[in-house]
Amino acid sequence: MTDATHVDGNALGGLLIEVFGREMTDAHGCCASCGTVNQLGAMRVYRSAGDVMRCPTCGNVTIVTVAIQEHTRVYPAGVRWIEPVA
Ligand SMILES: [Zn+2]
Repeated sequence: MTDATHVDGNALGGLLIEVFGREMTDAHGCCASCGTVNQLGAMRVYRSAGDVMRCPTCGNVTIVTVAIQEHTRVYPAGVRWIEPVA
C-alpha cells in the first residue's frame, strides 16, 4: 500500500539484495517497538536523503539506509530480528 508520502518496502528490494545477498522483501521482521511481525516488503518506506522504513502498525522506525559516497549503510536499529524465508 502506498500514498503520496510513502511507498511500500518493495521499493528497497534491490538494495536489500545488495546488502543481504538474497531476496529479502518476503523476509519477516519483528518491530522492536510493538512486536508486530511483517514482511519487509509490507513496511512503509519514506524516501528523502536516505530511506526510512517504518512499521505499518505503530510507525516505529525499523530500518534506515543512507548512501555514503559510493557505499550504502544500513541501520537496522528498530527491528528485534529479521528472518529470511527459506
Ligand atoms: Zn511496530
